[in-house]
Amino acid sequence: MTKKIVQYIMLVAGVVLSASLFVIMGCLYDYFGSIEQTQLENQLGLAARGVEESGMEYLQGLDGTKYRLTWVGPDGAVLYDTQADPGEMENHGNREEIKQAFINAEGKSSRYSATLLEKTLYYAQRLSDGSVLRISVSRATAWMLALGMLQPILIILLAALALSGVLAGRMSRRIVEPLNRLNLDMPLENETYEELAPLLSRIDRQRKQINAQLRELQRKNDEFSQVTQNMTEGLVLLSEKNTVLSINPAAAKLFHTNRDIKGKDFLTIERSREISRAIQTAFADGHSEICVERDGREYQLDISRIESKGVAIGAVLLAFDITEQAFSERNRREFTANVSHELKTPLQSIMGSAELIENGMVKQEDLPRFVNHIRIEAERLVALINDIIRLSQLDEGGELPYEDIDLMEIAKEAAATLQEAAAAKNVTITVTGEASPIHSIRGLLTEIVYNLCDNAVKYNVDGGSVKITVSGRTIAVQDTGIGIPAEHQNRVFERFYRVDKSHSKASGGTGLGLSIVKHAVGYLGGRIELESEPGKGTVIKIIL
Ligand code: ADP
Repeated sequence: MTKKIVQYIMLVAGVVLSASLFVIMGCLYDYFGSIEQTQLENQLGLAARGVEESGMEYLQGLDGTKYRLTWVGPDGAVLYDTQADPGEMENHGNREEIKQAFINAEGKSSRYSATLLEKTLYYAQRLSDGSVLRISVSRATAWMLALGMLQPILIILLAALALSGVLAGRMSRRIVEPLNRLNLDMPLENETYEELAPLLSRIDRQRKQINAQLRELQRKNDEFSQVTQNMTEGLVLLSEKNTVLSINPAAAKLFHTNRDIKGKDFLTIERSREISRAIQTAFADGHSEICVERDGREYQLDISRIESKGVAIGAVLLAFDITEQAFSERNRREFTANVSHELKTPLQSIMGSAELIENGMVKQEDLPRFVNHIRIEAERLVALINDIIRLSQLDEGGELPYEDIDLMEIAKEAAATLQEAAAAKNVTITVTGEASPIHSIRGLLTEIVYNLCDNAVKYNVDGGSVKITVSGRTIAVQDTGIGIPAEHQNRVFERFYRVDKSHSKASGGTGLGLSIVKHAVGYLGGRIELESEPGKGTVIKIIL
């Protein structure tokens, strides 16, 4: 702005100065012209008197270097000229000033020379004898004068411009200074040019408007951050160029990055081809889904295109941890497959035996053995189906009735139920401890204790023992059986998992007993502790 003001001031100064010089020079030229004219008239008056008195003699005695005198007879013929030979001069009767002098006693005119660089002034006076005396002088034209004065004019002009440049600089700084001092944070509190008042009040209005919008924006941003910060799902906002606009802590953890990634290409943190393909699909089709595995967990990524006025302006990526769902889904599938297999085996066995009997291929004496086999397999089926029903009841997790129970009583009941089976294996069951009242679900407690004791008998050795100990909210079942090798201890609570399949089947196991125990204990909010040593025995403790 300062520069512009200086330029304008210099321009104005230059134009005004040049115009002034031009006018002054014109005036001076006219002024000196009129002085010269008067001098010319005076000189002519003197010369005319001289010629009247002494005629030719007077003219011959003159020095005609400055003024030129020409004496013209009444017929127009040149009688004498101070600078030329009159014989060679043409008739002057028709010269303007001479014509006027013949008529009016005096005349004047001026004429430019052939080159226009000079102008000659003529003044003529009629003498008493009818002849005319003319005086003339040449002077430079105004242009020639100006040309002659070009150097001083230019010096004056440059000096004046330099001076006005300095002054203009100072002036413009003074003009601009109050503008530089304006406090735009408080526009209405400035004391400055009154012409700026409307502009300042407009700035003030707009400033307030912007501040209000900024506050609103900040509020929305805080709200958004609050929500996304605490989300367990990962959230990433991407621009249409795939750069990260926002990433919440859950997503940053999932993609092993931090929040500094903002503004960078998403590919710099996630190089997986399938994810970038899913993002491209979302941009093209509006939505895409993909499952990925990270750090041993499974995630579902939902990517959706964000549009504004029909144009894609970015995408939002949501990551859900579906490990548990995927796990239970897998379990369900495995369970179904296992159940089918477990049901099919005894059924096939029953059908095989029945067909043999039907076709008369079984000897009369073998018949009881076959029938017994059919009964055992059918019992296994019933046991299996009962266990499956119990498990599915536990899975459904419906409301079961709580009541006051004595744990000791439950232990004794289980021991009594298994007494026969234990005796068949020459195993002794003992129950120790005191009465332990507990508010719990009878059916589940019976299930837990029965299954543990059943296993303790089933996987015991001939002449072994089973010890049930009840103490407060803890019940422990200890046996002197075959034990469970360390590598199987974690897995025996899985459905259909058996350490020794043939042993389990031979003793009527379904592979579901311990998973029923695990489920029931989980339902009651308790925990299981297992200690076992192959060849020595097993202790399973339930802490409720
Ligand atoms: P099962 O119907 O086969 O007994 P469980 O779920 O009750 O199924 O037990 C799973 C497996 O754990 C059994 O097959 C067996 O190998 C092992 N097991 C369970 N209890 C004992 C125990 N007291 N002693 C030794 N092994 C056991």
